[in-house]
Amino acid sequence: MTGKAIIIGGGIGGLAAAVQLRRIGWDVEVHERAPEPPDAGTAVGLWPSALRALDTLGLGQEVRRVSRPAVRGSFLRADGRTIGVVDMAQLRRRTGDSVRMVARPALSEVLTSALGDGVVRYGSAVTDVRDLTGCDVVIAADGLRSRARGVLFGHAHRPRYAGVTTWHGNTGLDSGEMTETWGRDARFGVTPRTGGRSNWFACAPAPEGARSPGGDLAVLRGLFGDWHPGVRRVLDRLSGEGEAVVHRNDLYDLAAPLPRYVRGRVALIGDAAHAMTPDLGRGACEALIDAVAVGRALAAHRRVPDALAAYDAARRRPTQRLARAARLANRAVHTSLPLTPVRDTALRCFLALGRLPD
Ligand SMILES: Cc1cc2nc3c(=O)[nH]c(=O)nc-3n(C[C@H](O)[C@H](O)[C@H](O)COP(=O)(O)OP(=O)(O)OC[C@H]3O[C@@H](n4cnc5c(N)ncnc54)[C@H](O)[C@@H]3O)c2cc1C
Repeated sequence: MTGKAIIIGGGIGGLAAAVQLRRIGWDVEVHERAPEPPDAGTAVGLWPSALRALDTLGLGQEVRRVSRPAVRGSFLRADGRTIGVVDMAQLRRRTGDSVRMVARPALSEVLTSALGDGVVRYGSAVTDVRDLTGCDVVIAADGLRSRARGVLFGHAHRPRYAGVTTWHGNTGLDSGEMTETWGRDARFGVTPRTGGRSNWFACAPAPEGARSPGGDLAVLRGLFGDWHPGVRRVLDRLSGEGEAVVHRNDLYDLAAPLPRYVRGRVALIGDAAHAMTPDLGRGACEALIDAVAVGRALAAHRRVPDALAAYDAARRRPTQRLARAARLANRAVHTSLPLTPVRDTALRCFLALGRLPD
């Protein structure tokens, strides 16, 4: 089947859906409320399944070109001792790919370039999904605070604060490998990115929306200033200005999972459908996979309701399972109970025996 689709949101999921639908012959219009594409942002890790989704869009090689593979990953204690090592080689043997780190603006640029001019309408916020007319399908890809989700499914499925805030940014240091250091209830991660640089992130429990009078740098130094030298080297280079700016976000998932990802002719994808805490690094990956799945379903069916039901059947369970697992991981890392040795042993066993999901 072909027809006309309106996509709400020009983030990773919305742009990928637009590319996929155009590939299968649909007329597509994307409404993005931001005035222009993002020109700054940290990197996201793309797992092999997301790279395969990008291959389906014909963009996998380009994304591999502008990204950097994570060749090794380690979990460390605050004093620098190793808890466990991620077997990236096993993942590569099994899937042919590693996790690849790509800067958000670079990924957005690859997706936007594939669409050409005029498909994405910047500065165009959709206030009510029910007002959209003149199309066969609406794809709601409007992110964590999706208005479409609120209008179609109500307040019960609003974002829910996970109790943890994250700070993140770029650094000129080349970390070489991915490290995540776990303290009692806080953690600090460093991931390599292109250009011999790295991204860093830190997470710790905090009240929702809290801001520190002394500024984020002071909080970070207070929380992590006595951790191992790999963490301190990053902290020492943070100035809060220019490239070394510190971003801060509270972490959310959904208060209740959606009963369906589809209502009428509207399909929800990405964070609009299944916002999850970033503990497994899967949200953007799943948005890409959703985009491909919704396009495949529309290509395979003659009627929109059948296609959207097939999309819902394919994607709801696996993504809601991931959202639950991400939440559990978040709770385990940021536990206020004195369970650190149990937690670290569980992680070591998982890394030694478990098979990384791709
Ligand atoms: C700190 C952190 C680290 C993360 N790391 C990873 C990682 O390593 N790997 C990974 O896979 N995921 C990661 N994620 C998750 C990932 O960022 C999200 O899951 C992903 O961006 C979701 O994509 P999306 O397209 O659904 O939503 P978004 O990227 O949020 O895009 C939604 C778009 O819709 C637009 N919009 C919103 N409302 C409207 C409206 N009413 N009208 C028009 N436009 C609208 C917004 O402006 C935005 O551009 C991380 C998240 C965080 C917070």
